[in-house]
Amino acid sequence: MTQHYDLIAIGGGSGGLSVAERAARYGAKCAVVEKGPMGGTCVNAGCVPKKVMWFGASIAHTLAEAASYGFQIGEKRFDWGKLKASRDAYVKGINDWYHTYLSDSNIDEIVGSAQFVDASTIEVAGQRYSADHIVIAAGGAPMIPDSEGAELGISSDGFFELEQLPRRTAVVGSGYIAVELAGMLNALGSDVTMLLRREHLLRNFDATLRENLMEEMLGDGIDILARAQVKKVLREADGSLCIECENGQRLEGFDELIWAIGRYPLTQDLNLQAAGVVVDDKGYIPTDKFQQTNLEAVYAIGDVTGQAQLTPVAIAAGRRLSDRLFGGMTDRHLAYENIPTVVFSHPPIGTVGLTESVARDRHGDSVKVYQTRFTAMYNALTERKQKTAMKLVTVGAQEKVVGCHVIGPGADEMLQGFAVAIRMGASKKDLDDTVAIHPTSAEELVTMR
Ligand code: FAD
Ligand code: NDP
Repeated sequence: MTQHYDLIAIGGGSGGLSVAERAARYGAKCAVVEKGPMGGTCVNAGCVPKKVMWFGASIAHTLAEAASYGFQIGEKRFDWGKLKASRDAYVKGINDWYHTYLSDSNIDEIVGSAQFVDASTIEVAGQRYSADHIVIAAGGAPMIPDSEGAELGISSDGFFELEQLPRRTAVVGSGYIAVELAGMLNALGSDVTMLLRREHLLRNFDATLRENLMEEMLGDGIDILARAQVKKVLREADGSLCIECENGQRLEGFDELIWAIGRYPLTQDLNLQAAGVVVDDKGYIPTDKFQQTNLEAVYAIGDVTGQAQLTPVAIAAGRRLSDRLFGGMTDRHLAYENIPTVVFSHPPIGTVGLTESVARDRHGDSVKVYQTRFTAMYNALTERKQKTAMKLVTVGAQEKVVGCHVIGPGADEMLQGFAVAIRMGASKKDLDDTVAIHPTSAEELVTMR
């Protein structure tokens, strides 16, 4: 017999859990289908374990600087196994909590892989389920290239499984994951080489962020090779990995190679054609602003849509969708502009809104930029003078702030409040009229000339 629901979410990650949780609060009968651990990428192989490793790496940086503040620390030893075990236990605690949470919220958990039978019916482990509304929140997975020997490398998923710190690591890619993993591994003691197929890290970020990050990462001892497109990976007789690049470069002696070259949507196993859901040429599911696919009662949220692949975006889209479907808020939808984001590099980056170059393309001469670069007070005493850089991009006579970009210690925690101000349409004068908090780095954002 087919069991019927008001809403079924395919995927128990950030998006699927949020849409079901909000719908259930309105009294809708909901189910979440999950084929892996509950919580999806963010909890199991993304934000959460990544941030734990970032904290570990930040402690390593602090220890390296402690002598400047008068501390004499004896022999420093780092136990990767202990950090991994504590991290895994933390993640398992979140998984366990989700099961209780779902049952407390009256949401059914369906274990297994979902496939469409038709536009309102799915099948999981031989059992059929139908729903008035089906939300596809299947997320994505790391891309591995088809170059020779690529299978000798690992992805971010493999990084979280590493039982020991690699002595030498090659990180291929230039986006969020490449930058974050390279920074953490380096801080924790691995000898890291990054291979970029083009010139820049974080190509779509503001130039100020890219340039300062490159300088800081090089200063931290990370080897960054531009225009180094990997052609072939080989395993040497001693077990180490050797990389041959298209430009003829040959790099030897790596314990691990990590591919961090983007992710692809998990749409191929959903039997979408049975329902008639349209995907684009990369497999992403296009939607309208209400997260509706080409079908009336089938929706897509989160990474599977290919838009702003961030946990809070998947959550916000899911919650708004349920507000609309079950809460009577007929126009409720997520606006995809001004989404703040942080890169957990060392130091971190916080950014929201338009980069200077996009603003100039769109608004020409009416763009005015304010920027500053300084040594934060913390670094006044440390040997290495890490720089903090900030940029405000404004438009028009009112100097409406359309972009805010920060790199430096604390940038990750600094940005949320400024994102609120920008969303509300703050002008440069509004920032200037705000009393500074002293002594902080953030105060520079309200005192810039
Ligand atoms: P997911 O969380 O991927 O959930 C999809 C779920 O669907 C998965 O659990 C999958 O098993 C399940 N599924 C797929 N197909 C089926 C099927 N056919 N049947 C049943 N279940 C299925 N974002 C941030 O905002 N901040 C960060 O710091 C951050 N760090 C990250 C670090 C890494 C290393 C990675 C990889 C990602 C990071 N992200 C971060 C991105 C974030 O994890 C994703 O944007 C977010 O998880 C997307 O949520 P989702 O619900 O769309 O997909
Ligand atoms: P990204 O899209 O951030 O970056 C991947 C980069 O790799 C591309 O921009 C490209 O850069 C480069 N690349 C692509 N193909 C190749 C190739 N064949 N060889 C070498 N380089 C290549 O993807 P990530 O995998 O880093 O992360 C996926 C998504 O997850 C992110 O976009 C982000 O939305 C999310 N995420 C968010 C985090 C956060 O919020 N802190 C942290 C981690 C992930 P170029 O074109 O310049 O060569």
